[in-house]
Amino acid sequence: MTQRAAGAGDELAERRYEPVIGLEIHVQLKTRTKMFCGCELAFGEEPNTLTCPVCLGHPGTLPVLNAEAVHFGLMIGLALGCEIAPRSIFHRKNYFYPDLPKGYQISQYDIPLATGGRLGDVRIHRVHLEEDAAKLVHAGSSGRIHGAEASAVDFNRGGTPLVEIVTEPDIHSPQQAGEWLRLLRATLKRLGVSDVNMEEGSLRCDANVSIRPAGTATLGTKTELKNMNSFRFLERGIEAEIARQEEILRGGGAIEQETLHFDPATGSLSSLRSKEEAHDYRYFPEPDLVPIAPTDEMLARAREALPELPAARAERFERDLGLPAATAKLLAFRSELGDYFEEALAADSADAPALANWVTVELVPRLEDEDPFASKVKPRALARLVAMVSERSVSQSAAKEVLDVLAAEGGEPAAIVEQRGLGMAGANELGAIVERAIEANPKAAEEFRAGKQKAIGAIVGFVMRETQGRADGGEVNRLIREKLGA
Ligand code: ADP
Ligand code: ZN
Ligand code: MG
Repeated sequence: MTQRAAGAGDELAERRYEPVIGLEIHVQLKTRTKMFCGCELAFGEEPNTLTCPVCLGHPGTLPVLNAEAVHFGLMIGLALGCEIAPRSIFHRKNYFYPDLPKGYQISQYDIPLATGGRLGDVRIHRVHLEEDAAKLVHAGSSGRIHGAEASAVDFNRGGTPLVEIVTEPDIHSPQQAGEWLRLLRATLKRLGVSDVNMEEGSLRCDANVSIRPAGTATLGTKTELKNMNSFRFLERGIEAEIARQEEILRGGGAIEQETLHFDPATGSLSSLRSKEEAHDYRYFPEPDLVPIAPTDEMLARAREALPELPAARAERFERDLGLPAATAKLLAFRSELGDYFEEALAADSADAPALANWVTVELVPRLEDEDPFASKVKPRALARLVAMVSERSVSQSAAKEVLDVLAAEGGEPAAIVEQRGLGMAGANELGAIVERAIEANPKAAEEFRAGKQKAIGAIVGFVMRETQGRADGGEVNRLIREKLGA
């Protein structure tokens, strides 16, 4: 009796859940000027120096749509395989906040710029254009007014062009969310439409999270995690939220729809607002802007501006160059690294998979700057070094020493090998060492002659130690057998 009751409880407590995640990403566009005025766009300038009556929301001013922002928006929509709307319109999204002087944000609502695409294994729901709000600067305890902590507003950011990308709920783990966002970031970076810097806020991501019993199809109630400003926080925040929801459901409770803030310092989630407090934005069509109706010429120009994108590049590296999938992705998702690899590949006769391995495994940890082209190791020099390894003019371990020298001082691998005596031991030197090795291991030599194949190991080991890896194992084996008359 008691046992059966415990069994039923256990069933709930042990039920397995599948996480369901959809992302909403805000991308600051790298246009020359703001979305609806001629103010310059720049990060880190003196506060309130990049403003005008339009982006300060003065009454009677009129917005003028930035053509470059539309062009970038079209590029993003096309790169994500979306359908571009023949006529999309702007709405006013009304709310009060000190960072929004007009009292509304100009955004797109029911007819966005683009809909229905895909990137990797995640479908895109929509892509739309809007303007960013200004930035609140919290003075903290040093800036109190009437005893309360004061905040200041920096309007430089107000009116920055944004693209919002909304995915379908196709993501099923925190790791998949992180990896997909990396792919999106690499794609946007390759397009050249944004700095995509999460710390500086030019790429911002909210995650919608729900869970459902594994094997079921109905979506559970979701919560929204706001503004996670690094990949690690995104993954940790989602992980914490999945754990929180699982605990509630296993305890027989229900998830409440709310917006949450993840504190990376403590790993805890706190409620920002619940469904009852949800905003009613009173969207209405923006009367001061005409619809965006992209002409054939605009679409052609956006299409022509699309470079080879990271997902396609990774596929090409895998298919045409025979790279392992993970290596291909690493190179393609960090486009400078991919460019570096391709330049090296074109410069010498190095084998592509070997070269890719040296770039990702050996070069990357030796980089001081994220950009490999800033390194003292020139692509051509690395390619030569890798070719020397496969030509067996330098051993693997000696080549790593050469790479250390290249990274610290630059130069040519052949010259470094020469100067430092890192080349393979020559025939005479190797012959002499093999003779000494046999003399030093008379017992092993005798056993080998008597037919015990394994005994050769001791003699090979001696040679490898003496040459400090500057010898080819196969060649050493062959020489020893020859000298022992085998
Ligand atoms: P809202 O109206 O609350 O903004 P949307 O339907 O616009 O919700 O979806 C916003 C984001 O949330 C999208 O990325 C979508 O994929 C995701 N989403 C919607 N429903 C769920 C759910 N039940 N679980 C997880 N994510 C969801
Ligand atoms: Zn302005
Ligand atoms: Mg929404």
